[in-house]
Amino acid sequence: MKCKILLNNNFDKGLLLAVLISIVPIAVGAETVAKAENLEPAIIHQAQQKEAQDKLKAFEKKSKKKPNILVFLVDDMGWGDPGVYGGGEAVGAATPNIDRLAKEGLRLTSTYSQPLCTPTRATLLTGRLPVRHGLLRPPQIGETGGMEGEITIATLLSDAGYYTALSGKWHLGESPSNQPQYNGFDEYYGFLGSTKNYTEWRDPRINASLSNNETIVETIKNSPNFIKTLVKARRNQPHEALYELDIPAVANVDIDLMNNSIDVIKRMENQEKPWFLYHSFGKVHFDNYPADGFQGSSKAKGVYQDAVVEVDYIVGQVMKALKETGQDKNTLVFFTSDNGPETDTWPDSGYSPFRGAKMSTWEGGVRVPGIAWWPGMIEADRVSDGLFDLADLFATFVNIGQAKMPTDRYIDGIDQSSFLLADGGESNRAAVYYYMLDKFSAIRVGPYKQHLYVVSPAASEGIPGYINGSTLHKTAGLYVFNLYLDPKERRPYGIRTALITKQLQGALKKHKATFEDYPPKILMTLE
Ligand code: CA
Repeated sequence: MKCKILLNNNFDKGLLLAVLISIVPIAVGAETVAKAENLEPAIIHQAQQKEAQDKLKAFEKKSKKKPNILVFLVDDMGWGDPGVYGGGEAVGAATPNIDRLAKEGLRLTSTYSQPLCTPTRATLLTGRLPVRHGLLRPPQIGETGGMEGEITIATLLSDAGYYTALSGKWHLGESPSNQPQYNGFDEYYGFLGSTKNYTEWRDPRINASLSNNETIVETIKNSPNFIKTLVKARRNQPHEALYELDIPAVANVDIDLMNNSIDVIKRMENQEKPWFLYHSFGKVHFDNYPADGFQGSSKAKGVYQDAVVEVDYIVGQVMKALKETGQDKNTLVFFTSDNGPETDTWPDSGYSPFRGAKMSTWEGGVRVPGIAWWPGMIEADRVSDGLFDLADLFATFVNIGQAKMPTDRYIDGIDQSSFLLADGGESNRAAVYYYMLDKFSAIRVGPYKQHLYVVSPAASEGIPGYINGSTLHKTAGLYVFNLYLDPKERRPYGIRTALITKQLQGALKKHKATFEDYPPKILMTLE
């Protein structure tokens, strides 16, 4: 029965074999327990769990209201871009505001996204891996489809009494029913695709063969369902088109989004409801065009670095509004990126010290900055390498917002409130599962990572491009790395880790078993 389900859902036969030849199912590094059948098993840390719940109770008693939640999601920012992750000033793009968040909060060094924008965004909002929510890749211009049948954290928080707002990039389908205002958001102000959708066919410096071809440009402009304006919308109401997203508009759109988020925060100052604000940047996705006043603002003077300086400025301004309205003590802030740097477009490209880039499950593609901030609730100046998947934001927000967890679907996200809130708290996650499109490509337990598939860049070393023409290979043998000894994944040493490999196989087997009762859903298959 199990074989049938796995094979019916396009899982790899080799992987199945790897599971079956695992001689004894050995427990994962730490023991895990599932609170319910549909929830990903978590490590139980009883003392820190109690400490976190006591903190939350004391908070509610004092503030007489649930905490607000603010998420900053940067597009394509590399793990190595912010100063506190080794970039910043060192790479000519200082990030004092992002660094301050980390110094006043918790800096996570092992936060994981998916390898691409859309899968990550859907995972963050649904708490589910891409093979479950079905969005394996970004929708193309005018393409229909989206998150049909999915439940977003915005919906759950709304049901729990929150006011919910999204400023910025959506990228989860632009046809009307897939837009944010029909997916749990009370208000939306932003753009439905990726910034490049609006610019790359307009700019002869970037794409002259398209932009100088009137027939092609007209075809793109008139694509059915393509919404090339900034839009605003209210819950369950059709969107209103505000202005055309031409190149000068895209250059300045993040500043516009900043002003919108500041406006939301100011409006919420004296409201009874707690709020959830999802601030989703257009930058630093290629092609970066500097906003007015930001050209040459970085020491590096590059378009990418200027964009990092702008993102950092925006973080600072939004945080300033939070403090000026006295809501800083009542708000959990999480800062992260939706995937690793896009190296095909270098030098308009972020930095990661790890191997690989966006569109790969090497660490460089999926390991992203992750900073949690909540003064008085999250200990300042803390660093942890505990595993954190962006799916965990969903389950964590459900707990913090006292929302109702769905029972009719599998939730891959783990409630990490005790990891974040308890002083010296440890991660409740035992394993990270890496997916490359529809392929289960790697697993990490502790510092050990086994690859089942690897992505090879199209070009030779030195000009890495992981989207243009890369290839996906099934690994042979034991392709295991130790990310502490070898963070750049250059020395597979499975021959030395037979016992560990069995542990990885045990975790892998448990993960695969979750698809028996909860079959994967793939809406957008690859052509
Ligand atoms: Ca992205």
